[in-house]
Amino acid sequence: MQVILAQPRGFCAGVTRAIDIVDRALAIHGAPVHVFHEIVHNQWVVDDLRTRGAVFVDALDDVPANAVVVFSAHGVSRQVVAHAKARGLHAIDATCPLVSKVHQQAQRFVRQGRTLLMIGHAGHEEVVGTVGQVDAPVHLVSHTADVDTLDLPGDAPVAYVTQTTLSLDDTREIIAALHARFPGIVGPEVDGICYATQNRQVAVRALAARVDLVLVVGARNSSNSNRLREVAERSGVPARLVQDEHEIDPAWLRGAPRVGVTSGASTPELLVQRVVAALAALHPDPLTPVVQLPGVREEVSFRLPAELALP
Ligand code: SF4
Repeated sequence: MQVILAQPRGFCAGVTRAIDIVDRALAIHGAPVHVFHEIVHNQWVVDDLRTRGAVFVDALDDVPANAVVVFSAHGVSRQVVAHAKARGLHAIDATCPLVSKVHQQAQRFVRQGRTLLMIGHAGHEEVVGTVGQVDAPVHLVSHTADVDTLDLPGDAPVAYVTQTTLSLDDTREIIAALHARFPGIVGPEVDGICYATQNRQVAVRALAARVDLVLVVGARNSSNSNRLREVAERSGVPARLVQDEHEIDPAWLRGAPRVGVTSGASTPELLVQRVVAALAALHPDPLTPVVQLPGVREEVSFRLPAELALP
């Protein structure tokens, strides 16, 4: 069996920054530091931070008065920000700067008097946060078919923004359908899908062309990890999402001498290495040395909030 790794894979700059923010908040303020929602969508990361003093909550009312609370990388609504302020909480914002950019786009379109559409998945925290950044109704579009059901005239002044972690291919199709229905529509095309999502989808497509099975290491509620599995599958190879090495079914490996491994933007590399080790252990013969495909070397990094910056 040969294991081939995609490049790039794993942590993006927004996830690294969000985890660093909780780390720095713990170092400066001491435990507990409350975190509103999972800081990023990965159980291992959440459990690790919990052992070091982070307390994860899904309601701000569960945070004691005057305590420190970190908003997750997915962003929050204005209502959540106002609620934290009203409760006297010390809020630290770990929203990824690329999500904040989408918030600003959404606000600008609404200020221009346009009706806002958001391309994204219902209920995802990033979508909830972005929709809650504007004081106007937002129409959610998750599939191409949703475009036809929008109750808006074709000449309405409309604009769209996108969730950052969508499938490039699906989003292109939705945007094309929007342009066909609303000739005057404006929006960022697929540029709202962040660099990390785009790079990992390009990389998994290249990986899928060379293997018999793709394993995507990532959480079930991680949007970008799910999209990686879909992109691989659409390339014509079986693809499975596994949270860690324990979820590998040995039956998947029959008739799959070349196994590709990649990981979502919120997955620590440690879990990828455990999956590779488990593949070796499951195979009776020694593994051919692991190969990593060439790919984009990402050099993006985001600054920490000033109050947490290292001296
Ligand atoms: Fe930011 Fe993209 Fe990472 Fe989300 S996946 S945290 S938008 S860099």
